[in-house]
Amino acid sequence: MKQLEEKILAEGKVLPGEILKVGSFLNQNIDTQLLGQMAQEIARLFEGHRITKVLTIEASGIAIATAVGLTMGVPVLFAKKHKTSNVDGSVYSTRVHSFTHNEDYNVVVSRDYLTADEKVLLVDDFLANGKALDGLIDLCNQAGAELVGVAIAIEKCFTGAGDRLRAQGVKLESLALIESMTEDAVVFRS
Ligand code: 5GP
Repeated sequence: MKQLEEKILAEGKVLPGEILKVGSFLNQNIDTQLLGQMAQEIARLFEGHRITKVLTIEASGIAIATAVGLTMGVPVLFAKKHKTSNVDGSVYSTRVHSFTHNEDYNVVVSRDYLTADEKVLLVDDFLANGKALDGLIDLCNQAGAELVGVAIAIEKCFTGAGDRLRAQGVKLESLALIESMTEDAVVFRS
């Protein structure tokens, strides 16, 4: 998506550890006009798929997921980071390795909010090694919900995780696909 690529080139900062900082428009200070355009594009890409729920993971996925849910007219559910996994049996729980914090944590969703009749679109701000998505897919499987597809704002293609999921048959759409990035240059997949 051209507007997002231009914004990344203008305001994104590549930090050590292959981290792209986009706090000025996506992760802290949110450009709501751009966010709305991104949500429209995701809704267009998944038109006709009869999605009933958008699922993301806290915290940074919530903004884009909410914009997508609002545009599609469906609820948005976010998996919460939790110290314990499933003490009273009321949640589905999975373990996720955090790319940004380099540690493992439990994420949970209430069984009441993710059910076998749902057609789910996963949405997140970034795709790096795919651990967050693996966790969300696991939660869908535990609930027996149907995974319709995945929408990502910024995919770091050089990790290979996105293409691995596509090869597994997942309908994965990313709005900006980064082939390589250094402090001096960000190169998009054409
Ligand atoms: P993965 O689980 O795919 O390795 O990483 C995805 C998660 O890590 C995203 O939810 C996002 O919060 C975070 N993340 C991964 N790479 C980046 C990055 O380059 N910049 C920022 N801001 N967050 C990232």
